[in-house]
This record gives sequence, C-alpha cells and structure tokens, in this order.
Amino acid sequence: MSFHQALQQAAQQGTAQTTDPISVNEYIDRVAAHPSIAATAHQRINDMISAAGSQPGQHSGETSYRFFAGELFGMDVPLDRVARYFGTAALGHETRRRILLLWGPPGGAKSTVAAMLKRGLEAWSQSDEGAVYALDGCPMHEEPLHLIPAPLRAQARDYTGVRIEGELCPVCRHRLGEEYGGDFLRFPVQRIFLSEARRVGIATFEPGDPKSMSMEQLTGGMDWKAIERYGSDAHPLALDWQGEFSKANRGLFEAVELLKNPAEFRNLFLTMAQEKQFKVPKFGYIDSDCAIVAHTNEAEFRAFMADAKNEALKDRLVTVSVPYNVRVTDEERIYEKLLSDRGGRTSAEMHVAPHALRAAAMVAVLSRLSEHENLGFVEKMKLYDGTEVGEWKLAQIPEIKRAADHEGMTGLGPRRIVDILSGAAEPIGDGGDDKYLTPIMALIALTDQIERMEVPRDERERLQAFVVDARKEIDRLLKDEVRKAFVPAFAEHAQRLLDNYLTNIEAYCQGTNTQDPITKEDRDPDEKLMRAIEEQVRPSVAESAKDTFRQGVLMRIGIALRTGQRPLSYETDTILASGIEEYLFDQLKDIVRVTVSKSSPDPDQAKRVNEVMRVLCEQSGYNQRSATDLLDYVGHLLNR
Ligand SMILES: [Zn+2]
Repeated sequence: MSFHQALQQAAQQGTAQTTDPISVNEYIDRVAAHPSIAATAHQRINDMISAAGSQPGQHSGETSYRFFAGELFGMDVPLDRVARYFGTAALGHETRRRILLLWGPPGGAKSTVAAMLKRGLEAWSQSDEGAVYALDGCPMHEEPLHLIPAPLRAQARDYTGVRIEGELCPVCRHRLGEEYGGDFLRFPVQRIFLSEARRVGIATFEPGDPKSMSMEQLTGGMDWKAIERYGSDAHPLALDWQGEFSKANRGLFEAVELLKNPAEFRNLFLTMAQEKQFKVPKFGYIDSDCAIVAHTNEAEFRAFMADAKNEALKDRLVTVSVPYNVRVTDEERIYEKLLSDRGGRTSAEMHVAPHALRAAAMVAVLSRLSEHENLGFVEKMKLYDGTEVGEWKLAQIPEIKRAADHEGMTGLGPRRIVDILSGAAEPIGDGGDDKYLTPIMALIALTDQIERMEVPRDERERLQAFVVDARKEIDRLLKDEVRKAFVPAFAEHAQRLLDNYLTNIEAYCQGTNTQDPITKEDRDPDEKLMRAIEEQVRPSVAESAKDTFRQGVLMRIGIALRTGQRPLSYETDTILASGIEEYLFDQLKDIVRVTVSKSSPDPDQAKRVNEVMRVLCEQSGYNQRSATDLLDYVGHLLNR
C-alpha cells in the first residue's frame, strides 16, 4: 500500500471505528462463548500481557514478558512483579482493590511501564480476544451486564461464567426508564475501542497547582446547562461526566506522581481502588472498574512510607520498585531506543560508531552499582552483563543482588545520558547536517558534564573515576576492533603464520628439523616464533606448559584429519587464532602508527591502511570519518 493509499484508508475509518450495535441477548451469548469480553479491567490487562507470552528471564527463576520487550530492557524482575500483580488481581483477589505503585529514581522506566500498558490496551481492544462492549451512549461506557437485575444475576453467572459486579450509572438507569420503558433487553450494546485520546477506558491524572486542583477533575462536576433544563442539580443528567474516574472505567488509570497529590486526592484514589466506586455530592455511589497504576519518585516514596499517618494507606498499595537497569548491554538498547525516538523532524542523521553507546552505558551502570566487599565495580558490571570474572559465577548474581537492595536507585539516569550523547555528536564535516558520535566523544562529554554537575565534590570524583574505568575498557575494545579489522585485511598473512607455526611445532614434537623454503637448509625449529605466538594465546601458555600445549595442537590436527574436516585453519581454531591475531597485530601495528605520524605515508602503507579502513566500514559498522578517528586514536594508544 502506498503512503497516499494508507492515508486514504485511515481517513475513511474516521476518528473512531464503529460497528453495528447488537442486542443484549446477542451480547450475553457472545459473553457465554468468550467470557473474556466481559472481563474486569485487571483481567483484561492480564489477558493482554499473557497473550504476548513469556520466556525464562536473564537469571534462573526469572521470567521475561514479551509484552514489554522492545521497549524496556534489563527489567525482568520489576516487570515480573507488575505481571504478577495483574495475574493475582485477575483472579478476583483482594489485590484488585489495591493500587499498583511503581517507585524508583527519576527518569527511570516507571512512566514507560504505564505508557506501554495504556498503548497496549488500545491495541488489545481492537483485537478479537480483547473486544470490549458497552451500553450504547453511556458516558462511562459501562459493562452491558449491569442491565441484568439482581435476582437474575446468579443464573446469568451460570449461563455466561461471568460474575456480574456493579450497578447501572445514573444516566443509563434514567434512559432505561425513559427511553425503553424499563425493558432492558431493548438497550443497544456497542463494541467500543479503548483510547486515551478519546478518553475511553484510559485516563491519566497529574497533580497540578494545589490551589487550582479540584476534586471534580476526578469525579466529574455539575453540568449547569442540564441543571437549568431539568431544574435540579440532583437530576440524573445533571452531571457532566468529565471526571477521570468515569473515563477510566473498563481500563486503566495512570496516576502520575500519586504521592505529590494533596491528602484528600490521595484518599479519593484509595477509595476508588478499594470500593470500585466514587461519590459525587447529591448522587449515590457510582461504580467504576479500572486498574490504577501510579508512580512516584523514590524520595517521595520513602517519605510517605516513613510517615506513621499513612499506615492505613500503605496497606492498600502494591509497591514495585523500578530501579535503573544495571546491565550494560540492556543500557545500550535503552539509548538506541531513546535516540531513535528523538530522531524528530529533521532528516539529519547521527552515525553512532561501534562502542560509543557502550562507553556511556558503562559509566551509567557503574554509577548505579552498590559497593560489594569482594567484588570491584568493574568486575560487578561485567558479571551483571554476562561475563564470569575470576571466581564469580553468573549463578551468584541473584544472591549478589539481594545483598544490594538499593542498587540502581541512584546514579545517572538514561535520559540524562542520552541528552549528553546528543550534545556530544560532532558534524561529519561534509557540509551537511549529519553528525557522528564516537566512544571517545561520549566519554569526553561525560567528563565535562560530570564536572558541571551540582553535586558534592566527592560524588563528582566518584563519577569521574568511573569514566576512567570505562575508558580503560573502551581502549581495550578499540584496540581489539582494529586488531579484528587487521585479520580479514591480512587473512593470508595470518594463515601463513599459522602454517609456519604448525610446521615448527610438528618438528619440535618429533625432534626433527624444519627446512628453509629457499635454501632448503635444515634448521632447528624456530623457538622464538613459537613462544611469541604462545605467549599471545589467551590465556597465555607458560614456558613449562608449552610441550603439552603443542602436543594438544597436533592432536587436534590429527582428529580433524581423521574426521575428514579441514586441517587446522586460524579461523576454526579459536585458541590459536587469538595468539596468531595478537602476534600479527604486533608485527603490523606500525601501519596503524603511520596514519598518525605521517601526513603522506608511502603508497604501500597507504594501500594497507585503506584495506583496514575498508574492513572497518564494510564489516564493523564504521563510516570513513569514524574509522579514521579510530585508527588515529588506536595509533596514539600504540605510540604511548
Ligand atoms: Zn451507563
């Protein structure tokens, strides 16, 4: 479909999808066939999360919910608690009468969780499994089963499998009498589609200036025109139905910064959650079924929990801490997502060189980690990211995390880092608007920003030390990157080196000589070459272990030959490959230095550098500009 066709189709659909109304009897039969269409708000959200499926999480015993994948990273534990809240609430337990309160550091993922649930519900209500029906014309799009009178509800439950909760709203009760003469089977039922923009089943409330805040924002106020018309402010049609509690009915209510609200507002929320009802003066209780997902910053949360006056309220909250992510790889994904969201309206591109986001992610994660008595910050960062360090095993992570309950609650937030990265990118210099970002630019910008932060000096120093730690890791990665680019550029060279090494160890192990390829003279095996490579193998081979190592290599060749595989090549033998690559790199690193020290290298050197550049651009994700910077930088490192 072309863009214009798609526009045409969207325009024809209008502002809201509509379907033909159905009768109450038809609705009851649809419920009997698919009870989930008459689900409670919590059940609906639980169905939505479950339908997307789950898989085992990062660590044993953890679950990862696909519903949240793609936008939230490194948050299996808090998201599992969120999913469990809805799971328990869906069963009709007391949990559904509690507010889900997400708390954590500023700029974390709390509001993203709420936003995903809201957008998810909109999409879910468009699907067959997530279909929602309401009484036609009801200002709070209420559940049609509310029409069924109390004496018939037990029978209705047997027939449909659904327990009916709640009573007709004042408007529908009024219309039932006036328009349908009490014959509830004539009341039309309409499929609805939840939408935040149209305020159907999804609502949001943010505390404002306490002086201008009014309870009517939540409960709805008087419709003065209607009062004039009906002559009474207690007339069923005298309410304006603009309150968020009626808008959120059937779906989700996001309470932003819940604890910042004045106490009377907080109490309204708690009553709404507990009783599933709200009260408007001159009216009885009005039923509304919504899941309230609230969030708050850590400082407010702690103050609230410490205040004895809030004891009763605390019982009505299910709290889930949402710390910052502490896995470097997930942190990179968060930046990718945030940067792509920021693309905005310009067509200017930002080329992000490999490891640039990782550099910043390391500093951010390090800043969030709690101190551990036997595990350094950098080692902890690596372990969390999936690399076992020394004696520490991945299986120990849950235990390490349990001992650090404040971890991820402080430090640098992802949004702040992405601001810094956006500012750190430099023009590519081709006259256009395009920019590029390298790991070194990222680290320099972080250093500058940390220096300007209004935090105590020792905190600034702590953060700067993490930049130094990250730089060490990045230097190693960049050297590796250049080394890796050398290998394809010098693959033949590497294979020749390997063949040469194998010839020598074969002679060594058999106690024979090697032959000079040109003079055909017999020579002793080249001990210097063999040791040079073995010392570069990771982990390096000690002098005392060289015999065993060499025999091991020969044995691998034997096995490969017997099973009909290719004899050892430096690409297939990962143990030897590391040694060969390092050795080769050592031999050739002058070529990298050349790019730094000479403005016009000789043609042969220039050709070799170009080959490395080509590999970096074609295989490793660099562009000409960032590849040149990389070689310059690594050249400097090698010159030191
Ligand atoms: Zn109604």
